[in-house]
Amino acid sequence: MPEIAADPTVECVICYDQNNLPFYQLSCGHGSPATSPMHKACLRQAFQAEVDSGTVPGIAYVRCPICRQNPDIADIETIMG
Ligand SMILES: [Zn+2]
Ligand SMILES: [Zn+2]
Repeated sequence: MPEIAADPTVECVICYDQNNLPFYQLSCGHGSPATSPMHKACLRQAFQAEVDSGTVPGIAYVRCPICRQNPDIADIETIMG
């Protein structure tokens, strides 16, 4: 499962917070506490910001904040809810 339970001892590389939000491992491998911890909610904000700023032409084109690979569409759909 790409959704990983919250770990309040791990700092998210997007918000720099340690809190009780779940992490999410993208298809590229980034997002898990063992690689580049990113909260699911923070990925959602990062993806939305890319779309809102016009950096990418649509939600299907958003990129991993670390490596800029496109996540699987299923991951995007799960994260964006
Ligand atoms: Zn975060
Ligand atoms: Zn990545």
